[in-house]
This record gives sequence, structure tokens and C-alpha cells, in this order.
Amino acid sequence: MHARAVIQLGAVTLVVDPNHWLDKHGHLPTDNVRLRRRILRIVQFIEAGALLERLHGRETVIPCQKRPKGKPCLGLMWVMKTAKDEILAFCMICKTDEAVIHHWQETEWADGPMEPVPMTDEPLASERLH
Ligand SMILES: [Zn+2]
Repeated sequence: MHARAVIQLGAVTLVVDPNHWLDKHGHLPTDNVRLRRRILRIVQFIEAGALLERLHGRETVIPCQKRPKGKPCLGLMWVMKTAKDEILAFCMICKTDEAVIHHWQETEWADGPMEPVPMTDEPLASERLH
């Protein structure tokens, strides 16, 4: 794993270059379930934060994973774009900075959520795409 942890404001924050966790084509790994789960969380932060202006942020519907004092934190994660164009993911409730993501700009999630495509309301999901 190529991520490194740094001490920031007294808490350990993951510094992530997502390109190190994606496969050589920039896709989610399919051969390592644990790594895939970790990078999927990072990708969700990228998708939510990519289109933000610098020094702006928003709440996501991604749950905090911390367990302060052994109990699950009920916070939802926030993402913000830093002055250096990094994406910072943090929880307002338990005050944890979870990840600082850099080099996200070339990933396939850098344009935010996928553009809508025309669909039908056929009963089977697999037949809905035109
Ligand atoms: Zn939290």
C-alpha cells in the first residue's frame, strides 16, 4: 500500500494518491476485495468533492467509520477542496480528518457523478439502458 500517514492537528490523516490504488488502466481493482473497498471510499470522496471550488465544502451521505470511545460515530462525512486543490474528507461530529486526496484530477471520477443517459422503464434493470 502506497498511502502514507502524517500527523496533522494531532490526528492521523491518510494522505492518498488514488492512482497508486487503481489498476494500470485507472479502474477499480478486481483482484483485491479489501483494497477495492478502501479505494471505493476514496472514489466516493473524489466524486463528491471534485467539482467544488477551492475552499468550499459539502456534506455527503457517506457515513463516518470512526468509533470514538468504542461507539460508532453517527456523523456523515464532509468533503472540502483545499487551497492546494486537494480533497479533504473529514467528520464534523467526531472532528476527524480521514483523508487528504491528491492527484485525483486525472481519475475517471474527477468530473463528479456520471452524466445522465436516456433510459426506459422496462421491468428488468438490464434492459433499461437504450
Ligand atoms: Zn465521525
